[in-house]
Amino acid sequence: MSAESRSAGAADLVLTGGRIFTADPARSWAAALAVRDGRIVAVGGDREVRALIGPRTRVIELRGRTVTPGFQDAHAHPIHAGLTRGRCELHGAEDLDRYLALITEYASAHPDAEWILGGGWSMADFPGGLARREDLDRVIPDRPVFLPNRDVHDAWVNSRALEVAGITADTPDPTHGRIARDTDGTPVGTLHEGAMELVSRLIPVAGPDEMRRALLDAQRHLHSLGITAWQDAWVTQPDHEAYRDLARRGELTARVVGALWWDRSRGLEQIEDLVEQRATGRVGRYAATSVKLMVDGVIEHQTAAMLQPYLDADGRVTEDAGIVFIDEEMLRAAVVSLDALGFQPHFHALGDRAVRIALDAVEAARREDGWSDTRPQLVHLQVVHPDDLPRFRRLGAIANLQTYWATHEAQMDELTLPLLGPEVSARQYPMRSLRRHGAILAMGSDWAVSTPNPLLQIEVAVTRVSVEGRDREPFMPEEAIELTDALAAFTAGSAYANHLDQTGTLAVGKLADIAILDRDLFDPGAGPIGDARVVGTFVEGESVHEAADLGG
Ligand SMILES: [Zn+2]
Repeated sequence: MSAESRSAGAADLVLTGGRIFTADPARSWAAALAVRDGRIVAVGGDREVRALIGPRTRVIELRGRTVTPGFQDAHAHPIHAGLTRGRCELHGAEDLDRYLALITEYASAHPDAEWILGGGWSMADFPGGLARREDLDRVIPDRPVFLPNRDVHDAWVNSRALEVAGITADTPDPTHGRIARDTDGTPVGTLHEGAMELVSRLIPVAGPDEMRRALLDAQRHLHSLGITAWQDAWVTQPDHEAYRDLARRGELTARVVGALWWDRSRGLEQIEDLVEQRATGRVGRYAATSVKLMVDGVIEHQTAAMLQPYLDADGRVTEDAGIVFIDEEMLRAAVVSLDALGFQPHFHALGDRAVRIALDAVEAARREDGWSDTRPQLVHLQVVHPDDLPRFRRLGAIANLQTYWATHEAQMDELTLPLLGPEVSARQYPMRSLRRHGAILAMGSDWAVSTPNPLLQIEVAVTRVSVEGRDREPFMPEEAIELTDALAAFTAGSAYANHLDQTGTLAVGKLADIAILDRDLFDPGAGPIGDARVVGTFVEGESVHEAADLGG
């Protein structure tokens, strides 16, 4: 529509009669909102906003439904998730028979695939978290199979994959990983962390067409959940190309920040390459301005770096306190340099020791470079030592929460709690404590590790109860946060983490990135938060997802 075809000053889009959560600093509410040329031109009462309705204005009657700023997922893996969705998708299966049935089904539907790829199995579904090659061999004896689990910290492989990679009982464990073995040294069929690379490096990379399809599928899915922007937390060179390609074609409707991968096998010399990638990486709504530093692993495999050792099966203290993937001194030097160059450091910091050394690195950067606007963020934060809670505010470090994991479920109760013991267990996912200590909260799903649906994650943030068992006991309910705080974290907080300051709140002058829900989220009679649906998603005032009942 050209400017002339509208009445002067009329809005392109008006939302009216709703409960509009603006996420502004006052967390103010409004009833109506108007958009013109992609920006919000009015937020307020129905009467004043309706005055902007012209003959060509689209008017959506909200009828009491909630509107929020578009959700921003500050830590996700959409390309990986999109590729998995198009391959052998195992999310949702619950026992070995079901997994094998899905794998068999996929393999027979894809007789020409040289490799069987995909993933999404859950450690909790296998004894001791270990998936075995013999089970895969029974259904796929001839083609190599490589299936990462949900966390992508393990892969399940068959004998053919081990053979292709030359992995035998004599193969030593690589520096950053472990080959799970039987007592005689024979590989079991599960590869932990860096050991996955022994096989994954042989897998043909997805071609540009498959990458584009995966990304478009992921984007469609995320838009349907009200997500208008995300940070891709692990961008490899082919991923970087895929985003640039999509942005160049004008098909990238979401805003995306790419976190370039810090290669832990290299040193500071890689910074030059990162600078180069960033320089080529600003296309349309895509920018590669963050660097992902994988400081440690996960508790279930004792690869999370802890301040105190893990317990063994009998509850005795071991000598194992986990692994630091990037040595402390290197981490500090890297972060000081990256910060000076204006990169955002994005740390995977899961155990309390990883959290501490990540904060130490940020502190070093603040000391050497002065206060900067790089907005360092720490993700996962499963265990945080109480002494480190106030440091987030002091250092301006963002706490990027994966709230969905803070519940009693099999992985927590059977695999995690016994390894940590009661005292350390009680320091898990300290969301409210971080908030109380003044930390900036952002949220991310870590999709495809777990659901990308923000409303499910927000429900857990508020209840600390698994959505798969809403009658279960809450997990440390004293660490639950308020609904307004959770919504603000998933919108304004994540927008801050993404350096997308023109978005994240619904205020005059801001870009019109908006999510419309199917109900009043704050109505106690409206049912569980996670049952709410997104009926409309807009990016810069353009519709990118609509359900039939949106109206207007
Ligand atoms: Zn992740």
